Amino acid sequence: MAYRVDMRDIHFNLFEKLDIGNLCAFEAYKDFSTDDYKMILNEAEKLAVNVIAPTLAPTDKDGAKFVEGQVVVPEEVRDTLHKFNEGGWGAVSASPEFGGQGLPATLAVGTGDILVAANTGFSGYQGLTSATANLIAEEGSDYLKETYCEKMLTGVWAGAMVLTEAQAGSAVGDIKTSAKRDGDTYLLTGNKIFISGGDHDMNENMVHVLLARVEGAPPGIKGLSLFVAPKYLVNPDGTIGQFNHLKATGVEEKMGMHASATCSISYGEDGPCRAWIIGEENQGIQIMFKLMNHARLGVGMQGVSQAAAAYQLALDYAKERIQGTRIEDVRDASAPSVPIVEHPDVRRMLLTQKAVVEATRSLVYSVSYWLDRVNNTTDDEERQRYSDLVELLTPICKGYSTEMAFHSITLALQVHGGYGYCEEYGVSVLLRDAKIGTIYEGTTGIQAMDLLGRKVAMQKGRLFQNFVGLLSDFVKSNIAHPELERHFKLLGEAKDQLVATTITLGTKGMGGDIAYPLQYATPYLFMFGHVACSYFILDQALLAYEKLQAIYEEKGIRDDGGKAQLVQAHGDAKFYFNKIETAKFFVANILPDVYGIARSAESDDKSPMHIVF
Ligand SMILES: Cc1cc2nc3c(=O)[nH]c(=O)nc-3n(C[C@H](O)[C@H](O)[C@H](O)COP(=O)(O)OP(=O)(O)OC[C@H]3O[C@@H](n4cnc5c(N)ncnc54)[C@H](O)[C@@H]3O)c2cc1C
Repeated sequence: MAYRVDMRDIHFNLFEKLDIGNLCAFEAYKDFSTDDYKMILNEAEKLAVNVIAPTLAPTDKDGAKFVEGQVVVPEEVRDTLHKFNEGGWGAVSASPEFGGQGLPATLAVGTGDILVAANTGFSGYQGLTSATANLIAEEGSDYLKETYCEKMLTGVWAGAMVLTEAQAGSAVGDIKTSAKRDGDTYLLTGNKIFISGGDHDMNENMVHVLLARVEGAPPGIKGLSLFVAPKYLVNPDGTIGQFNHLKATGVEEKMGMHASATCSISYGEDGPCRAWIIGEENQGIQIMFKLMNHARLGVGMQGVSQAAAAYQLALDYAKERIQGTRIEDVRDASAPSVPIVEHPDVRRMLLTQKAVVEATRSLVYSVSYWLDRVNNTTDDEERQRYSDLVELLTPICKGYSTEMAFHSITLALQVHGGYGYCEEYGVSVLLRDAKIGTIYEGTTGIQAMDLLGRKVAMQKGRLFQNFVGLLSDFVKSNIAHPELERHFKLLGEAKDQLVATTITLGTKGMGGDIAYPLQYATPYLFMFGHVACSYFILDQALLAYEKLQAIYEEKGIRDDGGKAQLVQAHGDAKFYFNKIETAKFFVANILPDVYGIARSAESDDKSPMHIVF
């Protein structure tokens, strides 16, 4: 089945809703125009459809392997990675000082949305290389920047982000890999696991950005430092030198993401492994968090991209698969069979997917856009306002978008019936590949605790209160909307419920029962996500409504019959009409889950803590 991207919705988000052309007013983006942005998105689509997507089935089948002590990646990955790097796709928003294209983060999210689901396992190679190179560019010494950034951002060398150890997954503070001072550098010993693209021979060098503990450092996360360790030492002239005793000891066999080599790594096992510090000793976690926050946004986008790809497959399939008659003809044995897209239950499954994709896409793109403004504005008030929103909503982008994506893709598979369960139709691989989004870069449980335990409480609740204020103003301004009045009322009520549940859980926690709010942290993340996404999708519907009215006006159409005909025949009218219906569906069908969650969060049920496992 063909990989299809909904370019219309991506353009709507970037150019109609966010109007990212306005970012060109910033010094950093002054050499770009809206036309440049559109051209780049077009090229991304061609690359995704023609070059990357055809690699998904074969690389899913063959997968990365560990053969005689070496990591072996499928040939298709190698060929495609070189084409990808030649086009500069790994460094879309990276600094031009180091060979990047210097484009806004929002555009990088747009191109990522187009490219990632074409082969998610493939996309991690250069994705993590540019993320680690960007961190070195922002936080590294001049030596590190000059030695590594350009080589990595142009795809000559590869990078990996290295935290996890067997005993230290979510509990990052339990990292044991040790770093011993040796003059200006350090010598590493230890083992890491689950490192995406941690070793391979597709690039001439491999650069690890890793957390380790300097000998004598305090326990826990406060004793972690961040290092750069190359696989091959770099000579003063920039050429590759001796092996640095950083090597793969295995490649995981995984449920999905087969193109990606998920490696276990040893440092300094049979010789010295030298590393260079980023920042100061014991500051590692604060610096790594900068990368992880970007990466969490990136994983949220990955969920959007995968759910969007699966929805397109389900939609195409539902229009082709003939099965059963229309419900109106159920008693007529001679009635013709119809495509399954005619059946109400299939339409519900399709619209749920469309609503999830469009709501989470709007969430992730908006947060990226705010991040661009934070990084470029000279207005302190604006910077603070957007920075607060980015902080608060990052766990929602990561935790909610990936969980909802997985749910959405199960529906895409369900629409395919038994064929979806078979590999040929391309939807099962998306489901397998999507599960990891809820696990790496901090599991959903960890995102939920970050949201409820940290972000909501942060600065005496200021970030949360400001967000609630934004929702209240939004509802108040639109409560008399001619078509969406009921939906704004529903959002207003759900927002009040979110506040009430936040107070309930907060009061329990402050009263000394810490376990109770944490027991409900993940349902609370869903509740928050449903409310936030209703805001984003209704905000889109408002614009769609205005645009649709303008089309009716321009065509001189006032009667309902004429409008219905136009929506069938006119591309933009159909798009805006559907956008409004999708928002209505989200608010009427997904948002009410808030009340089920609220009832359980207010139940005072403590059975998870009482049960004897
Ligand atoms: C395909 C793949 C690629 C990966 N890529 C990388 C990479 O490039 N770099 C890297 O460093 N790591 C990587 N990882 C590791 C990944 O980040 C970890 O798997 C993840 O952080 C979870 O850690 P864990 O597997 O040890 O699970 P655990 O931490 O053992 O968690 C198990 C379960 O317990 C829950 N849990 C744990 N602690 C708590 C707590 N305190 N409170 C409540 N619930 C808790 C979790 O939410 C989860 O549901 C990758 C993993 C995979 C599978």
